[in-house]
Amino acid sequence: MAEDLCSNAIEGLKMLLSERHDLAAVAAVKVKQLTADLEATTSVEKIKTGFAHFKTEKYEKNPSLYEELVQGQTPKFMVFACSDSRVCPSHILDFQPGEAFMVRNIANMVPPYDKTRYSCVGAAIEYAVEHLKVETILVIGHSRCGGIKGLMSIPDDGTTSSDFIEDWVKICSTARSKVKEEHKGLDITEQCSKCEVEAVNVSLGNLLSYPFVKSGVLNRTLNLKGGYYNFVNATFDIWCLDHGVSPPLTV
Ligand SMILES: [Zn+2]
Repeated sequence: MAEDLCSNAIEGLKMLLSERHDLAAVAAVKVKQLTADLEATTSVEKIKTGFAHFKTEKYEKNPSLYEELVQGQTPKFMVFACSDSRVCPSHILDFQPGEAFMVRNIANMVPPYDKTRYSCVGAAIEYAVEHLKVETILVIGHSRCGGIKGLMSIPDDGTTSSDFIEDWVKICSTARSKVKEEHKGLDITEQCSKCEVEAVNVSLGNLLSYPFVKSGVLNRTLNLKGGYYNFVNATFDIWCLDHGVSPPLTV
C-alpha cells in the first residue's frame, strides 16, 4: 500500500516535471526523497516476507530441530567464507541451523594469531574450538572474489588507498607474491583465480598459529580443510591442509 502511494507520487511528480520545467529543481529533490522512502519501505518488506517464509516453511515444519536448538548448539563445522552475497555456505553446502559455526569476512581470510589486531576472528576460533569442540574448520575460497582482486591490484610499492580493505586483504600477501612469481604469464583474471586458491592455503597455515588449533590438529580431534566454490561452472573442490599430499576432490 505504502509502496503504491510512493510510486504514484513519483510518477505524478515526473509528469509534472515534464510539463513545468520551472519546477524542475524542486520536483527533482522531492522525487529523490520519495525514491529513498520507497527503497526503505521495500527493504523492510523484503525482510518481513523473508522471515515469514522461513517461519512457515522451515521453523514450523521442523519443530523438533528448533526445540533442540533452544537448548544449545553442537556444530561439527566451523566455516570461513567470504562476505560476498553469492557464496552463502548455508545455501551452497546446505548447512542447516546448528550445523556450522561461521565467520564471514572480505575474501574469507584467517589472519595469524594476534590478540590486538585480530581479536574478532581469534575469539570466534577460540569459541569454536575450545567450547563448541568443532571437528572441522573449513575455509572456502570462491571464483571472482572482489577481495582477492583487490589484493592482486595493490601497487607493488604497497601503497594503499582504502581505510580498511587493502590492509585486511594483505593478510594473504604471500599468496599474491607466490602467484605473481609462479604465474607471470597469466592475465590478471587468471592470476586472481590462482590467488583465490592460494589464499585459502595461507589461511589454513595461519590457523595453525592458534595454539588451540594446533593442538587439536596434533591430537587429531580437529581437521583443517580448504574449499573452493566456483560459481562460474558450479563446482566445489575440497582439500586437506597439505595441498601437496591430498589432491583436491572435485564434486
Ligand atoms: Zn570474495
